[in-house]
Amino acid sequence: MDRPRITIFDTTLRDGEQSPGCSMNVQEKLRLAQQLDRLGVDVIEAGFPIASDGDFEAVRRIAATVRRPVIAGLARACTGDVDRAWQALQGAARPRIHVFLATSDIHLRYKLRITREQCLEQARNAVRHAKSLCADVEFSPEDATRTDIPFLCQVVEAVIAAGATTVNIPDTVGYSMPEEYGNLIRTLREKVAGIEKVTISTHCHNDLGLAVANSLAGVQQGARQVECTINGIGERAGNASLEEIVMVMRVRRDRYAYETGVAAEQLYASSQALAEITRVPVQPNKAITGRNAFAHEAGIHQDGMLKNPLTYEIMTPQSVGVPDSRLVLGKHSGRHALALRCEQLGHQFERRELDEVYRRFVVLADRIKKVQDCHLIELIQDVKKGDGSRGVGSGDVAASSGKKFPPAAATLPFPRAASAAAGGNGNGNDAHPAQVSGSAGQATVSIPFADHHGEQEDYLWGV
Ligand SMILES: [Zn+2]
Repeated sequence: MDRPRITIFDTTLRDGEQSPGCSMNVQEKLRLAQQLDRLGVDVIEAGFPIASDGDFEAVRRIAATVRRPVIAGLARACTGDVDRAWQALQGAARPRIHVFLATSDIHLRYKLRITREQCLEQARNAVRHAKSLCADVEFSPEDATRTDIPFLCQVVEAVIAAGATTVNIPDTVGYSMPEEYGNLIRTLREKVAGIEKVTISTHCHNDLGLAVANSLAGVQQGARQVECTINGIGERAGNASLEEIVMVMRVRRDRYAYETGVAAEQLYASSQALAEITRVPVQPNKAITGRNAFAHEAGIHQDGMLKNPLTYEIMTPQSVGVPDSRLVLGKHSGRHALALRCEQLGHQFERRELDEVYRRFVVLADRIKKVQDCHLIELIQDVKKGDGSRGVGSGDVAASSGKKFPPAAATLPFPRAASAAAGGNGNGNDAHPAQVSGSAGQATVSIPFADHHGEQEDYLWGV
């Protein structure tokens, strides 16, 4: 049986980046866009070009560099915005202009101060203009879920007639319930002329914790694009979390028989790259990518896990790219092992750069025996900065680490094997990272982790 393909539209760089504390510079956006490309998302919303010169430049650079996915740029429904978006996007292999205009009475009356008739006209004109520049045009009626439904149908019909190829239905304020949101998608499919020619998209906010559930309800009623973000970042409580949407469709194929193009093994690296760039840590209990997502602490769980992982595990950590915590990096680790761990943390290197990372790694490993992910991240950052003055081997790792990376990145993620082993063999000495805490803003690198002696021999050798 053919499973419908769901287009994954990532808006980490636009909606996500708009959230407090998550702003990124051009270089950081480019790095994340390249990671999103590896992750296999279909569309990258790279920014809102008219918002700032930095946003414009980021969209332009991403459009010029990342060639496989569709690159979208956001624009309000007016000529200046659409033109600016197009300027930034025109070098893309597959550009998309994403036009939005609020349609709910509350937004029309208090924010835009226009009538429904004016709204309809403005939406139609903006889409027509965008279409004259770019074949791929998406339209979003902002606050769709609080819009009068017959009026929403009228707007959607008008923008389809004007050339929109994707119609996105935002639950801008995160107010909808799954059944309600699903019904709205169904109503649009039943009532809007021409709807079968376009892709219907979901865009759900998480104010009531229902963003993923609402998106899935939309998909079940015929939406074929989901807008979402890494780690669920976004305005206020965030957007639908990309990793959760994707893994629901993997783990529960029986109920959600859809395909995506996402390479799930890249989910963890993408999450780590975002956390490191924004310095906004992932909440420990975050589904799929939180550091406790695969940790088993309770004795009875550990016992079950040792007997058969299926007792408590619905997916393996490896399936989402979580590094195997039994593999410890030390001075005998080879270059390949080092490169692999760097990739798992969201960093890819050219050969020369890897040489430098490896050189510093060996020096550090000689001093501190076990190199934790947090040390590695710091070392990588120094190499990227070309900083030779402050070598990580000089003993300042723990002292300087607090300001350099978020606490989540500083703890060894997913210590499943180590903690399970500790519980199973009665050796209670292992520090479970779940119990290791630092004060706010302070990394926890100086606290010793589980002692993995004996496992070093199993590790990859050779340079
Ligand atoms: Zn949004």
